[in-house]
Amino acid sequence: MEYSLIDLIKKGFTKITADEREYYLTHYISTEEKQIGKPIFEMTKEEELEYDRLCFNNKAGNLKGYDCPICKNKGEIMVVKDGIAYYPDCSCMKIRRSLANMENSGLGNLLNIYTFDKYKCTYDWQKHAYERAKAFITSDSNFFTMAGQSGTGKTMLCTAVAGALLKQGIELKYMLWLDESIKIKQVVNDNKQYGSMIEELKNIPALYIDDFLKTEKGGAPTSADIRLANEIINYRYNKCRADKSQRHITIISTEWLLPQLNEFDNALAGRIYELSKPDFFIQITGAEKNYRLKDF
Ligand SMILES: [Zn+2]
Repeated sequence: MEYSLIDLIKKGFTKITADEREYYLTHYISTEEKQIGKPIFEMTKEEELEYDRLCFNNKAGNLKGYDCPICKNKGEIMVVKDGIAYYPDCSCMKIRRSLANMENSGLGNLLNIYTFDKYKCTYDWQKHAYERAKAFITSDSNFFTMAGQSGTGKTMLCTAVAGALLKQGIELKYMLWLDESIKIKQVVNDNKQYGSMIEELKNIPALYIDDFLKTEKGGAPTSADIRLANEIINYRYNKCRADKSQRHITIISTEWLLPQLNEFDNALAGRIYELSKPDFFIQITGAEKNYRLKDF
């Protein structure tokens, strides 16, 4: 004898026969019902809620970009507390937001290009920089700075560090200094807009500033640039000093060397150096200047 599920539902599970029940158990019972150990129509209120939770959390979503085994790409999970269902964000949402940040910044695809395994360690200074960058990821240090002229692989290594931190689930924002600083300086008199732009740069758990203090014409930064740099760096510096229970990561790539940074603003340079040294202030100068010719 066969029983269609529709017929059983129409009839009502309170009225089904032992035969029909047995048929349901062998043909229609779901994974979640099996996990609870009984068919849905025999569950208590609590078991039903647990059944709902299992169904919700087992269902696949369609968020892209990061494959999350916890929420199966829905971005939220169902939890039950004191008989009430809640739907908090899954922990992957932080990663998704970071990835979106990276993508919005135009760095999205570079994350795939600039990875550690693509970095060539031909020269000693490259090996040194590579090892320092790798070590930074799992260290408890807060600042990672790479200084040197363009073509020294700063963006490569800093992006690889950023990518590794993102994979750890650390929320990170990418700031291309020149682009972003122009936007922020434009709204400096609009308290609300300025506040919201700068707030994120101050408080994001990890900030990656690419081409720090680069100017449109390549000259020294203006006093407005230095003010902005100070506002962000001082805040993050103070946070590192005040709260040692967790990392407040700042990654900086810059074409300016330490003496130049010192000249622009002694205190600013001092803070960056203090939190990066000795292991994570990497300055590349001198003979390596031509290294872009080595087909990096
Ligand atoms: Zn998730």
